[in-house]
Order: sequence, then structure tokens, then C-alpha cells
Amino acid sequence: MPDKTTLTFTPVIGIEIHIHLKTKSKVFCSCSADYTNDEPNSHICPVCMGLPGSMPVLNKAVVQQGMLAGMALNCTVQPTTYFFRKCYFYPDLPKNYQITQSDLPIAANGWLEIDDDAGNPKKIRINRLHLEEDAGKLHHSAADGRLEGAETSWVDYNRSGLPLAEIVSEPDVSSAREAVEYVTALRRRVRYAGASDADLEKGMMRFDANVSVKCSDGRWGRRVEVKNMNSFRALERAIEYEIKRQSKVLAEGGEVLQETRHWNDAKGTTTASRVKEFYRKFIVEPDLPPLVVSPQWVEEVRGMLPEMPNEKALRYKEMGLSEVDAGVLADSIDVAQYFEACVAAGANPLRAGNWVRTEVLRAVNDKQVGVTDLAVKPDTLAELIRRIDEGKLSTTLAKNVFEGLLEGLSLDEAVKKSGAAEGGVDANALENLVRATIEANPDVIGEIRSGKDTKGKKVKFLQGLVMRETKGQARPDEVAAAIESAIENLK
Ligand code: ADP
Ligand code: MG
Ligand code: ZN
Repeated sequence: MPDKTTLTFTPVIGIEIHIHLKTKSKVFCSCSADYTNDEPNSHICPVCMGLPGSMPVLNKAVVQQGMLAGMALNCTVQPTTYFFRKCYFYPDLPKNYQITQSDLPIAANGWLEIDDDAGNPKKIRINRLHLEEDAGKLHHSAADGRLEGAETSWVDYNRSGLPLAEIVSEPDVSSAREAVEYVTALRRRVRYAGASDADLEKGMMRFDANVSVKCSDGRWGRRVEVKNMNSFRALERAIEYEIKRQSKVLAEGGEVLQETRHWNDAKGTTTASRVKEFYRKFIVEPDLPPLVVSPQWVEEVRGMLPEMPNEKALRYKEMGLSEVDAGVLADSIDVAQYFEACVAAGANPLRAGNWVRTEVLRAVNDKQVGVTDLAVKPDTLAELIRRIDEGKLSTTLAKNVFEGLLEGLSLDEAVKKSGAAEGGVDANALENLVRATIEANPDVIGEIRSGKDTKGKKVKFLQGLVMRETKGQARPDEVAAAIESAIENLK
């Protein structure tokens, strides 16, 4: 029996991800791929129902989306690939086989960069990305009395034949945290490429994790494939659970055998699958010719790939933005493009970054809409920011103006509604306010007059007091001018 206290365990993890590729129709028939909220079995035909004699026809858009996803993950597109039949019986699979590419995939040998647990950059290699079709969906409900003691199961084939990409990593992941970072980075990139919406809540992205544990005494458990995770949290918890479970087995002198286990989210545990999967894998699909992509097509698709998030974030940092701001703005391509349009319309990048990161994202969140659907367009925000920079609007007032813009008002209407008179507050009122502020702060005035305020901090302080008194209604440039001339007059 090994001494438990001195043993250490190193996790070795590989991740398989399924994502729905974004296309109008299914992969081998012309049924619509968008069935959200539609009646079960309303998007079906002989092909995706697997009726005898039906023939699959490959949807070109699926190949293109697969190439885009592969390129976004730094993979090489393979010029000639094949489709295979993976045979097994299950009620959600009416043909009794799934058409897949498996070992001869459309894209291979990619990588993604993440931060490892020590905060250093680390590459996770991607073995391959292959195209395949999704199965239907089973729904289980209580017995309806037709069969004593049995529960009733329903099958919906709307999902049958939806295009999937399976993305298989090399076993380069070392912790549950790294796994979550890997899948987050991957989702960001396939979304940027427009290859998949990868919406977890809609089941468009699902995970399997292969977990093994190396013991410091040289023993290495076999890999266990954990299936059935459909959220980042579930992936993280399942991996943590497996690392603990396998380490315990090895610590107690036991052996970890290769098996498939299922994650039970409610219980927070994995359990061995009793059913052994037996496939006669990889029978060449006789109804589909080899898939050949021309070098011209590959180049055409490469030209469709936008600048990727890491490169964008780097560029934003070069524009002077902080690491965190750059990361937030580059997280989604829509937000990044909104920010860039704002800067292109003449806004100061730092101020634009700040406004997009705070006010714009807050509005998107409050209204539960995409940034492209906001009533405030980037050039209007740029104009608003310019007015702040020119001292025509205080930041406080600009936030009120922004609220008006969100309601669909034009910039001028929103400025009016915010209560800011075009010329700021009344000149006499401002003069009186400045005089009162100066009288109330003799010490500050003393320092300014004796020439100690070389950096102008005290003057700024007085401006702030006046702005606050006007509740942000005054124009900052006019306040500054009024204070300056009042101090001039004191001399
Ligand atoms: P299978 O068809 O058996 O699932 P795949 O090639 O599809 O085989 O997937 C193998 C997965 O297991 C990959 O993600 C790979 O990184 C991972 N893997 C390989 N060796 C190990 C290991 N020793 N520990 C953990 N994961 C591993
Ligand atoms: Mg596998
Ligand atoms: Zn169909």
C-alpha cells in the first residue's frame, strides 16, 4: 500500500466539443434548421427520417461553416475527406447509423491559446474538427397507462440531421479551470467566425471530457470519458469530481479502468454507463462521394474570416485601453464592431471604450437585446462623446442624454429633454454661483492666488463644486471660463 500522504496527482484532460453549425437548412436535406418553438416533427422529410431509399445530399453551407470554424481554431483544411457511417441502434437515430467524418476530418492540427493555472500563456492543441449530423431528441414523461409500469417516451426528429462540428482537443488541459477557459475561448472564436451561435441554453454546444490522472509514483490511470455536460459549470464540476474520484482510487492502490461515465448534474457525481457502446465504426458512406474542396474555395473562405478576438484585444491595448477593457470589448464581435465604429466616427478611443463597456453594455443587459439592436447608433454615441470632450456637456448630463437616445430620441431632442439648455445655465446665475463658491472657499483661493496651484488641481476642484451645484446642467467649458475670469478679477 503506497504512502498516501506523499503522493501527488496530475490531471491529464482532453475535451470533445459538439457545436451546431449555423446554416439555413440541415446537413443532408433541405429541411429548415431553425425549428425553435415549432411543433415536434414539423421539420422532417424522408432523408432526416432515414426512410429506406432516401438519399443524402451534402449542404455546401455546412462545409463552408466547418472550414470557417476550423480556420478560427488555427486548423488546416484538408483538401479531400470522406463521410462514414457510424452504426448503432437508438430510437432517436432512425437510420440506425450516424453520418460522420471521424478520422478523415475537414480540418485538423489546430490550437488555441489560454492562460494556464499560473497565468502563463499555454497552447491547447486541437486534433481535428469533423462534420457530422445530430440525432433527434427523446422526451420522457410519466406513464400514460397504455403499458403498465412503463414511462412514455416521445421522439422529436426536428433536430435529426442538424449540422454538427465535433472538435477534439489533444490531452493538453491540466485542470477544470483550464478546461472552462479553453471552451470559452473556443466559443468566442467560432462565434466571431459566424460558424455557430454556440448558445449553451439552446443546446448548441455540448461537452465530453476525457480525464485521466498521473500519480507521482509513476502509475497512470486510463482515461475516463465523461459525457453529458451542457454548461460551463457542469463541465467544471464534472472534471473536478473525476479528478478527485480517480486520485482517491489510485491513492488507495486501486486501478482506474477505461470507461464511459455520465455526469449527473443534480447529484453532482459521475456514474459508470452500464451499456457498453458497440459500433461497427467507419463504414464508408456509399451514398456520398468524397468531399473535395478546391484551394480557391479555401482561400475564399479564409478571406471571410474576421480579425480574431486576441488580435483585436491586442490592438485595443495599443490604442491605450486597459487589459480588462480591451478584453471586454473584444469578447463579442458585435460589441467590438460597435466600439470600432464609434472610434471611426471620431470618438476618443479611451472615452468610447469606457462608454461602451459601461453604459452601452448595461443597456444591452437591461433591455436584453443585441448591441446592434440598440436605438443608439455608434456615430450618435461618438457625437455625444465629442460634446463631452469639447466641454459642452458634463458627464452627468451626458448620461441623461444617453437615456433619451435609448428611448429613440435624436441627439438634439435628447439634449433638450435632459434639461440642458443649449447654452448651458443662465450666465448671471452661473456668475452668482461662481462668486458664492469662491467666497465659501477662501483657503483654496488663497493657494491659487499665491501661485501654489501649479497643476491647476485647485481650479479643477472649484469647477467640480460648481458643476455639482448645477447638478451637471452647466457646460463644463463655461464653468471653467467663469471661474477663470472671477479669479482674474480678484487679482
Ligand atoms: P474516442 O473515439 O475513443 O472518443 P477520440 O480520438 O475521439 O477517441 O478522443 C480521444 C480523446 O481523449 C481526445 O480528446 C484526447 O485528447 C483524449 N485523451 C487521449 N489520451 C488521454 C489521456 N491519457 N488522458 C485524458 N485524455 C486523453
Ligand atoms: Mg470520442
Ligand atoms: Zn429533412
